[in-house]
Amino acid sequence: MTITDRPNITVTGHLQKEAWRVRELPPVELVRPGLWSIPVIFPNNPLRYVNVYVIEVSNGIVLVDAGWPVDEAWKNLNDGLQSIGYSITDVEGVLVTHNHADHLGLAGRIRDASGAWVAMHELDQIEVDFDIDPAVFKRAGETWLIKAGVEEHDMPDLIVDAGQFVEFAKIPKADRLITDGERPLPNAQHIRTLWTPGHSPGHVCFIDEKHNLLISGDHVLPRISPHISVHPSEHGDPLGLYIDSLNAMRGMNPEEILPAHEYRFSGLDARIEQMNIHHEERLAEVLVAINEHPGAGTYEISSKLSWSHGWDNTHGMLRRAAMGETLAHIVHLERRGLINNIPRDGRIYEGNLITTDAWFPAALD
Ligand SMILES: [Zn+2]
Ligand SMILES: [Zn+2]
Repeated sequence: MTITDRPNITVTGHLQKEAWRVRELPPVELVRPGLWSIPVIFPNNPLRYVNVYVIEVSNGIVLVDAGWPVDEAWKNLNDGLQSIGYSITDVEGVLVTHNHADHLGLAGRIRDASGAWVAMHELDQIEVDFDIDPAVFKRAGETWLIKAGVEEHDMPDLIVDAGQFVEFAKIPKADRLITDGERPLPNAQHIRTLWTPGHSPGHVCFIDEKHNLLISGDHVLPRISPHISVHPSEHGDPLGLYIDSLNAMRGMNPEEILPAHEYRFSGLDARIEQMNIHHEERLAEVLVAINEHPGAGTYEISSKLSWSHGWDNTHGMLRRAAMGETLAHIVHLERRGLINNIPRDGRIYEGNLITTDAWFPAALD
């Protein structure tokens, strides 16, 4: 994620913003009648916390997102519910904006404690391979790194421990699938689902039509732009999907945006504009790198771009994430017809010759 600091949005979550400034967990807040935000800790992560939203329904409450799966976050959630007169056993369901562990992680524990259903979009449900063999996972990751042109001596730093991933991937399967346009809560018909692919294939936002609010998950955040990446298992153009689903929100004019991280704000169209500018600038930077280094692979191009802490200080998972982000921009440039991939021989890996992506500026005629 990168910081995009262009003004024109209005921060409305003043207590959240102040808590951000002094590096504390914000307070539980009543956002509108029957709608609260409960921040739960996201430890060892610059995002610091996840905003879980609580929607009152006739027989209890429904949560939007669940939080990172650690005891401390579980305690924040339980204490927060207590403070508004509810308890975890009152949770009827969890609407999950997307399958990342800071949103879905605690959903299984909530379901075990209360019998709640867990719902998410089909594309995020099927994206997670719950029974993946760690060896298969590791091989896919290494193939991806070779294709990206990672040099041999840098490989160990970038290979993810498969065992760790499989542990991480033990996130709950959904009991219900939600679709674009659906009103998922029979007792709260004013809540409507909006499919917003990009940050993940099945990312959804929720619109509160009664209060004209947008519960935006990670799709739109006030300060940072969500990580858009091409992962080893992915195909297609996630950045293109993201830009399209972002621009489709123009003119919606919600009174307030309730994001999963950071703080509430207003000015959706301004924020959309900022993000468009950010991505166009980044696309231009990637294109310059390819023009200056024709035939470079994804890894080399990544190393030529500006990163918040500098490429040389970006290691391990962060470097991998940076490469995924670069590849998302490269793939999108290719879709726009501005660059071509002319793969060349890479390396023999497990008896197979893997080709390496080599990116060239498209011939202009
Ligand atoms: Zn996310
Ligand atoms: Zn998140």
